[in-house]
Amino acid sequence: MHDYKKILVAIDFSDYGNLVAKQAKHLSENFNAELHVIHVLDNIPMPDTPYGTLISLDMQSYDLLLQAEKNKFIQICDEMDIASTNRWLIWGTPKEEITQLALREKIDLIIVGSHGRHGLTALMGSTAKNVIFHAKCDVLTVHLRDDQ
Ligand code: AMP
Repeated sequence: MHDYKKILVAIDFSDYGNLVAKQAKHLSENFNAELHVIHVLDNIPMPDTPYGTLISLDMQSYDLLLQAEKNKFIQICDEMDIASTNRWLIWGTPKEEITQLALREKIDLIIVGSHGRHGLTALMGSTAKNVIFHAKCDVLTVHLRDDQ
């Protein structure tokens, strides 16, 4: 048995994200562990779309979307009092970026919600399942219910 020294929590800005963040903060304090936070930008359209791509006229510009995501991330990290070196905003696929960062940063516990933006229909959402499958360290899933 060992105490966790470096914890990584994955947040997705869903309604449940706050609970996952709170649980991670609580555990990191109990273990006296370093807490890292990751959000993966997986829902912003790529700026260099090919010819023929239909651009929705009511869509916000890429810069505005990115700035909005950055602001949300900074606000959550500020509220959790996360050191600037431990904040990770990364473009990509959540399951890959979360597990790769954990390896690179020698994380010993990853915390994810049981589901997020994909909703309750995908209980044990795809990200949680994939992180459990691919991670080389322990993974804790915070069980989320609709009535929380
Ligand atoms: P989901 O696969 O959408 O049901 O999400 C399950 C959990 O994976 C969420 O509660 C988060 O902890 C994590 N997660 C999902 N998407 C992201 C993302 N884009 N960035 C960081 N974490 C994520």
